[in-house]
Amino acid sequence: MRNRDAIVYNLIRSSRKTISIQVTPDGNVTVRVPNRCSRATAEEYVNKNQEWIRKTKEELRQRAKEQKAFKAHLPEWTKEDYDRHRELARQVFQQSVDYYAQQMQVSYRRITIRDQKTRWGSCSMKGNLNFNWRLVLAPREVLDYVVVHELAHRREMNHSSRFWGLVAEVMPDYKWRREWLKENGDLLMSR
Ligand SMILES: [Zn+2]
Repeated sequence: MRNRDAIVYNLIRSSRKTISIQVTPDGNVTVRVPNRCSRATAEEYVNKNQEWIRKTKEELRQRAKEQKAFKAHLPEWTKEDYDRHRELARQVFQQSVDYYAQQMQVSYRRITIRDQKTRWGSCSMKGNLNFNWRLVLAPREVLDYVVVHELAHRREMNHSSRFWGLVAEVMPDYKWRREWLKENGDLLMSR
């Protein structure tokens, strides 16, 4: 067993002004320090924050375990199950896009339901909308957020503060929806 007091970490020096600690989901600890920061100062900083580091590592480990358990319990789906959900996705997205396009007074061309492992949605310059069918497995509020996000790109083809302003105008509570997707996106994509 490893000595409880020793925290193993990568030390990265750069032209930054402050010290920061990052724990990645796989449990690696990275400490970023200013160029002139001594090893001892970094060490002291890590020691001062070791409680937080351990807690964060433990939380991440716990979450990974839960996700694994959840995945293991996903029942097998037949091709018909997938087809059914894709069809449902088509209907729900059509409904949601119609509603929010009117609210936001934007136009669009075509909605395509896709089977992608990396994206939730996209919007082309011409106004063609693409959505991932797996969003029907998420709460409706989350699906609606992706719709509003893509429709906002009809006005702003970027993620500027103006863009987020448009999103917030029609969906003031969009942040928790976006967070939900960040937190649970991997689970949805595992289907
Ligand atoms: Zn976007």
